[in-house]
Amino acid sequence: MNVAIYRDILLQKRAELEHTASVGAIQTSMEHNNGRQGDMADQASGTNEVHIHLRLKQTDAKILQAIDEALVRIEKGTFGLCRDCGEPIAEARLNAIPWTLVCITCKEKQKA
Ligand SMILES: [Zn+2]
Repeated sequence: MNVAIYRDILLQKRAELEHTASVGAIQTSMEHNNGRQGDMADQASGTNEVHIHLRLKQTDAKILQAIDEALVRIEKGTFGLCRDCGEPIAEARLNAIPWTLVCITCKEKQKA
């Protein structure tokens, strides 16, 4: 397995998420400034938008953390091995989610 390719993908995705996070922060502060001009209905929908932003940010933060962990695992040479059972993670899964820490079997067990 060529981990250098995954390293590039992970670094690119991390830069993307960091960009999204900063854009999201700017949008949220703009919504706060506009909030005073709206009536009750506008304020209500504005609140929902802020909630969506926060939820996205939480997801992004989790992915960012997983990407950092994956990069550490590349350095250690344990990238592509399941954190829980130690078995190799299928390459198709790594291609879809390069920052995943567990194989599909262990992921299914987590859900159950
Ligand atoms: Zn596993």
